[in-house]
Amino acid sequence: MKHLKAFEDALTDIRDEGRYRVFVDLQRHRGNFPKATAKFEDGEREITVWCSNDYLGMGQDDDVLNSMHEAIDSFGAGSGGTRNISGTTRYHVELERELADLHGKTGALLFTSGYVANDATLSTLGKILPGLIIYSDALNHASMIEGIRRSGADRRIFRHNDIEHLRALMENDDPERPKLIAFESVYSMDGDVGPLKELCDLADEFNALTYLDEVHAVGMYGEEGAGVAQREQLMDRIDIIEGTLGKAYGVMGGYIAAHDTIIDAIRSMASGFIFTTSTCPVMAAGALASVRKLRTDDGRALRADHQAKAVLLKEKFRQAGLPVMDSVTHIVPLLVGDPEKCKALSDTLLFDFGIYVQPINYPTVPRGTERLRFTPGPVHDEVMMDELVAAILAVWKQLGLEEAA
Ligand code: PMP
Repeated sequence: MKHLKAFEDALTDIRDEGRYRVFVDLQRHRGNFPKATAKFEDGEREITVWCSNDYLGMGQDDDVLNSMHEAIDSFGAGSGGTRNISGTTRYHVELERELADLHGKTGALLFTSGYVANDATLSTLGKILPGLIIYSDALNHASMIEGIRRSGADRRIFRHNDIEHLRALMENDDPERPKLIAFESVYSMDGDVGPLKELCDLADEFNALTYLDEVHAVGMYGEEGAGVAQREQLMDRIDIIEGTLGKAYGVMGGYIAAHDTIIDAIRSMASGFIFTTSTCPVMAAGALASVRKLRTDDGRALRADHQAKAVLLKEKFRQAGLPVMDSVTHIVPLLVGDPEKCKALSDTLLFDFGIYVQPINYPTVPRGTERLRFTPGPVHDEVMMDELVAAILAVWKQLGLEEAA
């Protein structure tokens, strides 16, 4: 086999750094989420999933599943082409209309994932705006970083959520050059929220465009689930809102919503949009049902339950003396602070207690802040939470982590 040694060396480096990933093989059972069966070398076990980004359980919602059944029965499986070459169906068109309306914009554009939406859009903006400078929050997601790199724009990284640092960087640049500020609303590892209003104010002052990733907020915040910008009544001040259909909406795909001229330009120029088979109609149908449902009272009820479950779990962790990190959102990070112990904690919870939560280690988070990241939701009940806390406490002691508690 040619060059095999290079592949082996790369894997050795990853293993040595403790970054080698092992995927847990899950069999979910319709209607029984967050319970699942996990397959291991020595057999199968029933487990409870605590780290899914299907935050509201919409991946199991009957209305979503029924629309997907209907779509597959009437449209068939794949889309059969790129959007330009026979791959646009009624579901794609309707979903884009729905998403534009959700975010109060005149246009929206679907991509095959949120990752592609960020990468394709940001990389294209550099081609549309010669001399562009992109200001990027230090904790922006890899897909934004990649898109910004490929945009050819000059890049300035501002310290996470640090408005004064951003201002200093902007003041230093030529006022005539086009500018864009890229940031997120809910940051997924710490569960904190960006200062959206201050970022919009600064953007106005410097005539910069605003680009907001609401991947961990759409479906979950705002009156109709349009995200934190909706909750804070800032949607009209965000030029490009990017979201996913794969987390709270429970399906798959990504999108941007913006002024229709911006959408038209991205649609016409972004290779990550143009040169790829479009989303399956069945996915678009499921996403459409999910987005529509989460705009109604059903969505509001799920959002209230979701927030209540997050508050309850944080409270239970605190009462148990566990070092839950400050988070103002639905994301509940528990600080372990050591990569090996974090991995061992996760493994023991899984193998001995049937509790599945993935360890989050460097480089996803800074060294010394290794953690378990819990995403409680409407599908988790209090009994599951009490079992979880008891299991963590038992393993915490075994690993000699008492001091942190
Ligand atoms: N942005 C952020 C902040 C994310 O966390 C993720 C996925 N983890 C993405 C974008 C990509 O979204 P998707 O999973 O739909 O590709």
